[in-house]
Amino acid sequence: MAAERLKNYIGGEWLDSDAPQVHEVRNPANGEPLGETPLCGAGEVDAAVRAAKSAFATWRRVPVQDRVQHLFRLKALLEEHAEDLAHIVTRENGKTLSESRGSVRRGIQMVEVACGAPSLLMGQALEDIATGIDCESVRQPLGVFACIAPFNFPAMVPLWFYPFAVACGNTFVCKPSEQVPFSQKLVFELIHEAGFPPGVLNLVQGGHDAVNALLEHPGIEGISFVGSSPVAEHVYRTAASHGKRVQALGGAKNYIIVMPDADMEQAVDAISESAFGCAGERCLAASVVVPVGDAHGRLREGLLAKMREVRVGNGESEGVTMGPLISAPHKEKVVGFIERGVAEGAELVVDGRQVEADPRGHFVGPTLFDKVGADMDVGREEIFGPVLCISPVDSLDDALALTKAHPLANASSIFTQSGKSARAFRYSVDASMAAVNIGVAAPMSFFGFGGAKGSFFGDLKAHGREAFDFFTDRKVFISRW
Ligand code: NAD
Repeated sequence: MAAERLKNYIGGEWLDSDAPQVHEVRNPANGEPLGETPLCGAGEVDAAVRAAKSAFATWRRVPVQDRVQHLFRLKALLEEHAEDLAHIVTRENGKTLSESRGSVRRGIQMVEVACGAPSLLMGQALEDIATGIDCESVRQPLGVFACIAPFNFPAMVPLWFYPFAVACGNTFVCKPSEQVPFSQKLVFELIHEAGFPPGVLNLVQGGHDAVNALLEHPGIEGISFVGSSPVAEHVYRTAASHGKRVQALGGAKNYIIVMPDADMEQAVDAISESAFGCAGERCLAASVVVPVGDAHGRLREGLLAKMREVRVGNGESEGVTMGPLISAPHKEKVVGFIERGVAEGAELVVDGRQVEADPRGHFVGPTLFDKVGADMDVGREEIFGPVLCISPVDSLDDALALTKAHPLANASSIFTQSGKSARAFRYSVDASMAAVNIGVAAPMSFFGFGGAKGSFFGDLKAHGREAFDFFTDRKVFISRW
């Protein structure tokens, strides 16, 4: 049987792509071929932007309470197909079914919040800013927006953006990761069924060329990007130099501080879930755990015991708690980091390279390094795999200094029973998604999502109320009659 070649969804129709090159998509757990992503270029991006632009003229005039009816229908369809979607996420990305179900739930929650647009889009008004003069501000849609997504949450991440954009009256072009195009294929089938007018939501398949065409296209007002920091910076610079507003969410090296007074059982459970859940392919994953003083020995023992419970395998199989990495090149990269960690003198406490699993899949088991220095590759670079580093320190000040010295600042947590330590952490940590006694500092759909420093390029974060700022212009009227 010929491999399925993905299509674009433009102007309400599924269209074959004429792109000469494709990216082959395989199940990362067993190598099973799933299909081919056409690597579209500027021509197909232009067709999608034109369709979106022409739909905007009508869509922006649809009353907001009517616009969100389409989102209510989409939410119902997503609920109906949530299980199918979770299986697709697992098959194309590798994460376990329960992780996929969780990510689909988080995606649906975005649609729920965007359905609140009639309230959330409201402006402000004040009478008599001078005698007899009134002032009001309204939010207006801007036109066509686009998102560019990473491989690690194929259903959820694009849903961080387009429900909000279209609720505000904009139209949209979505470019999923070429490595995982099937989840958005199903979501766009549901979008079609939900009855959005043609051109309001469009899907273009592709890689670098499609991205660069979106960044430079004069018909696009704004870009939402999620992916690695070097690409985030490229997206930010290029799109901004073409006059667009940009929110570009980048990579991470997340520090977790463990104080001697922490509830160690709670800390160990949360940290191992954070480091090894989704095989470490999460922008909120624990990367470096920093035990303070005598927390070190107890934490290390606890993590060792917990890591023995991890069951590596195909995420669709019962009882498996950790799936494969996304691809052979990514596995090679993660294994390369482990080799370099050993060469740099870190202590390899648990070696995930020898894991027993299907040799056709890209498996690396949970891996633990101790005595990791900030100048080592494993201590400095984003590994994006199930590799946890321990960097012990003597005091909370040392722990905070280590955390703050890193150029990335996506998420960070502290485990402690002391309000004073928690307050010191909260006050000075750079990461803008921070948590106390929680391993994955993930904001819900009604809050903003995004990091700081080299983990985020732009100003307004994803989802929550900030989405309504990103996707609108705030126009002010001053009137005297
Ligand atoms: P990536 O940067 O390789 O790719 C992201 C997107 O950019 C894809 O759609 C890809 O087609 C495109 N792309 C890749 N290289 C490009 C280039 N040179 N020019 C133009 N376009 C390019 O990221 P990934 O490997 O798919 O995802 C993993 C990364 O995403 C990690 O760094 C992770 O931390 C990050 N991430 C961040 C968040 C966050 O909220 N900050 C969330 C999820 C993932």
